[in-house]
Amino acid sequence: MQIIVHRGTHQIGGCVTEIKSEKGTRIAIDIGENLPSSDDEINLDLSIEGLTYGTPNFNAIFITHYHGDHVGLYNKVLPQIPIYMGEVSKNIYKILQTRLAKKHIISYEDLSRIDAFKTFKIPEKIKIDDITITPIEVDHSAFNAQMLFIECDGKKVLHTGDFRTHGQRGKAVISALEKYVGQVDCLICEGTTLSRDRKPPMKEFELQQKAEQIFKENKYVFVMCSSTNIDRIAAIHKATLNSHRLFVCDDYQKELLLYIDSISRSSLYKFKNRVLSYDDNILPLMQEYGFVMLVRDNYTSKQVMEFFPRSTFVYSQWDGYLDKKFKQYEHLQQFVPKQHIRLHTSGHADFEAIKSVCECVKPKILVPIHSENPSGFQDMNLENCEIKLPKDGEKINLL
Ligand SMILES: [Zn+2]
Ligand SMILES: [Zn+2]
Repeated sequence: MQIIVHRGTHQIGGCVTEIKSEKGTRIAIDIGENLPSSDDEINLDLSIEGLTYGTPNFNAIFITHYHGDHVGLYNKVLPQIPIYMGEVSKNIYKILQTRLAKKHIISYEDLSRIDAFKTFKIPEKIKIDDITITPIEVDHSAFNAQMLFIECDGKKVLHTGDFRTHGQRGKAVISALEKYVGQVDCLICEGTTLSRDRKPPMKEFELQQKAEQIFKENKYVFVMCSSTNIDRIAAIHKATLNSHRLFVCDDYQKELLLYIDSISRSSLYKFKNRVLSYDDNILPLMQEYGFVMLVRDNYTSKQVMEFFPRSTFVYSQWDGYLDKKFKQYEHLQQFVPKQHIRLHTSGHADFEAIKSVCECVKPKILVPIHSENPSGFQDMNLENCEIKLPKDGEKINLL
């Protein structure tokens, strides 16, 4: 078996990893676009022979979750190559991208390519010729994100995608690995937080408690967070219910939340009876009872915010976007008031959580990806584990 990280050995996001069997079956995991950053110089274009140009020579692509840095370049893939995505992930991605197509941000041609994605259910095994893939659901800031367990040529490989263990479903990560995976020959592991400080992250549940306090103390609250960070929205929703405020969002966000409600049995995702989509008619209700409204950087959100000048603004996504060196800064600074509360916790595993995954699957070889500090894995002092630090495109043979 051969592994090639085409992109993502020394950067966060934009990852593409290839697994090739001895017989020549080739799959790629993720086809991400580079995250917006201060440095536009890194590898903006992706060109892989047999995948994005030339004669099609990959059997399939698997997408671990719907974040753009994992799926964003799907339209560069040669159309003959099937793309697989978790069923729920695909449906969320479709709701998101349909909105963008209506606003002419993406084309309807691209939308039909998303429509054509093949789907799988978790944890059903999928066979692509002599490669078997088992998706394992993990905790992340994307709903229905997966690690992929790959078996082929008598070898076992785990690709972590993006994950964390401090979210609502974090405890299930290690037990799922014990149940479905066990020891592996190679672990391809994300290390996003290894370039950051190592203090333990706030748990999503603690964030919910802090939000509840803010909502109780403030009658009119706007919260800015990613529309597809479902576990964050679930925490905000729960905090809103506990503080007896109205829970308001726009039609698109409501559609997304009702979809999650319809496919989930957990009480965490029961949005249906409480979510109100905004229109001018509910303004008197909002004034009387107080509210928590999810907003984004768009005209409607800004209009409602102007109607409530004495409101509280909670910024609940990555702080980096408020930094001058990022492209979003220009746009967001017009939107985010100077006085705002920051309430966020990472979608990525911290040092200890990454280490616990490594210790659980005891890899003989570890290949860091999705990290600006891949050599940070060396500080974990993992037993009987060789840490490879390849360059993008370098071949690793599992013998
Ligand atoms: Zn990512
Ligand atoms: Zn992600």
